[in-house]
Amino acid sequence: MNVLNRRPLFVLTQTVVLVVVMMAAASQATGQARTGETVIQKATEQFEDSPLTITSLSQGLYVFSGDGGNVTAIVDDGSTLLIDSGLASRISELSDAIFRTTMRPVTRLVNTHWHFDHTGGNTYFGSSGVTIIAQENVKKELSSAEDVPFIGLRDGHYPPQALPGLTYQGSLTLHQGSRRLTLENYGAAHTDGDTVIYISPANVAVVGDIFSNHFYPIIDLSSGGSIDGMIHSLDQILAQTDEQTKIVPGHGPLTTRADLQDYRDMLVQVRHRIKDLIAAGKTMDEVVAAVPTKDFDARWASGYVTPEAFTKMVFSSMAGTKASS
Ligand SMILES: [Zn+2]
Repeated sequence: MNVLNRRPLFVLTQTVVLVVVMMAAASQATGQARTGETVIQKATEQFEDSPLTITSLSQGLYVFSGDGGNVTAIVDDGSTLLIDSGLASRISELSDAIFRTTMRPVTRLVNTHWHFDHTGGNTYFGSSGVTIIAQENVKKELSSAEDVPFIGLRDGHYPPQALPGLTYQGSLTLHQGSRRLTLENYGAAHTDGDTVIYISPANVAVVGDIFSNHFYPIIDLSSGGSIDGMIHSLDQILAQTDEQTKIVPGHGPLTTRADLQDYRDMLVQVRHRIKDLIAAGKTMDEVVAAVPTKDFDARWASGYVTPEAFTKMVFSSMAGTKASS
């Protein structure tokens, strides 16, 4: 399917089924987002068009970026353990790059959460016998269709082979060669099934979409996400890391604890402002019009989550509404 054939898909309604979009072949880079596009349409175009890059964190520890969410690979003598599996439409490219880089078969796959840009390769890997590991709610979310308010994501109903075969609730420890992986769920934050992975002794933290470097987050109201949960999880991550920790965000380049602290402080301030506006009786549209993110937009509005979409998600998270407009 060429770029001309792909265009009409992006004028469908917000309930467009993502898998249809993801079946479109990767196209030439187009850059500009069109007016009226949803967050997910913008993100999908970016994921389709970005080159795959490989970053080496240390011996046998790599991050593959560009194909949806960041994919981390941890290699031991005989196998590769992956964290997240990218975008379905680019799985051949990703799996070839992983094998060329690690020269080991993937035997285990950890999902940081259920979203399509982190689980797109689950069917591919699950079909070849890879053990998929995730917080228990990921299995529930992947099994059922979900509409995520304000961003235009409708996803779910993954086939059985794409579902986690090993789940945990609060914490799980894995070993990959000489490395220890500590999987932690701090309660619902970005979704209700987020996993943060600490890799020691490498001093690496893989935080999924609790932090994308560097733009406003999606708060998935369809699966328990909340601004309070985001801030709570960030406080836990800040307590478990130090200045030397290499932080792998859900999207974007490797980052530091200092960046994570700035991001957490931004979320706290936006929450505070929106809380005051809600207390003053403002409606969601009035809160959006007040632009509570204004002085943060220069740093945080460069991604596919607009200040308006972010404001609506924070507002709804606090006001308890789940309106999908
Ligand atoms: Zn996500």
